[in-house]
Amino acid sequence: MELLYEGKAKKLFKGPEAGTIIQYFKDDATAFNAQKKDTLTGKGILNNYISSTIFEALNQTDIPHHFIKRLSEREQLVKEVEIIPVEVIIRKVAAGSICKRLGLTEGEPLPHTLIEFCLKDDALGDPVIAREHIEMMQLADSFEIDEITSMSYRVTDFLSGIFAMMQIQLIDFKLEFGRLHNNTDFPQIILADEISPDNCRLWDMKTNEKLDKDRFRRDLGGLIESYTDIAHRMSIHLPALSAEK
Ligand code: UDP
Repeated sequence: MELLYEGKAKKLFKGPEAGTIIQYFKDDATAFNAQKKDTLTGKGILNNYISSTIFEALNQTDIPHHFIKRLSEREQLVKEVEIIPVEVIIRKVAAGSICKRLGLTEGEPLPHTLIEFCLKDDALGDPVIAREHIEMMQLADSFEIDEITSMSYRVTDFLSGIFAMMQIQLIDFKLEFGRLHNNTDFPQIILADEISPDNCRLWDMKTNEKLDKDRFRRDLGGLIESYTDIAHRMSIHLPALSAEK
């Protein structure tokens, strides 16, 4: 397979047909802009299954997305898009960087869902930017930012609901969007990347136990056990978690 791009947690390969990509999920875990690194056997399998199941569930909505199908334990087939280099962070409860930046207390519910934009640029440490910066840097136009914002709220409502059914509270998460060039006058903005405990904060509703990547960031241990717990709550039938070949 032809490798197109290697990121921190995924590799992208050329897909079998024009306009398709294969997303391969690695076991590598990184945090704090890749200053902290480890390999956690089976993480890629878990994220592939969890993200595939969430994107399949999104088919119940009219939110357009890149996911086509899961191909194997670590691979999924997706539509090729031009990624917009903006990380969209959606927060319902204060946690992580917003507590450091604004002095909020972790676990404090926000009065309403907050959307933040960060520039997707590791060298700059993914700084928070305003929509005015996005327009000024021509990363997306005003119409596209509106589209991204309204889709982000819809994804939030949908995800909060499905996690609540599993006794899990959605605290915050990150989305990425891309442009699908489908021979129309304007490209369509669609949801891309992955939705997994690597990019969501998920707390058990009864105990507030962290079930997400904070287990790695904060050296809490038990990351694979927590991701497996999420997969089981989603009724996912998991394969054995073996190391990458
Ligand atoms: N997030 C992510 N990738 C990033 C930055 C953040 O997936 O590069 C997710 C993170 O997992 C959390 C949410 O976005 O669910 C908010 O993260 P925060 O800004 O608090 O950053 P962090 O705690 O990673 O410094």
